[in-house]
Amino acid sequence: MALMITDECINCDVCEPVCPNDAIFQGPEIYEIDAGLCTECVGHFDEPQCQTVCPVSCIPLDPRHVETKDQLLAKLQRNQGQA
Ligand code: SF4
Ligand code: SF4
Repeated sequence: MALMITDECINCDVCEPVCPNDAIFQGPEIYEIDAGLCTECVGHFDEPQCQTVCPVSCIPLDPRHVETKDQLLAKLQRNQGQA
């Protein structure tokens, strides 16, 4: 499952640089996550790095993008140009 940023985001900027997949970007009003790139940090870290740094805990799992671990690993390989 990809993660998503809710409208509680305070645009503090700390999540964007910690994402290993460059999935976080500044949207029109708040930061957003590209569900096509977010792997829940699978393959890089044990925990979603954006969740661990967000000071207002506004980055839940995105129920619109349900994926298995195998699907997340396949996405990681696509991100890295290996598939
Ligand atoms: Fe990036 Fe990991 Fe957060 Fe997904 S969970 S947006 S891959 S830091
Ligand atoms: Fe928004 Fe949280 Fe990212 Fe800060 S860390 S920009 S509050 S989502």
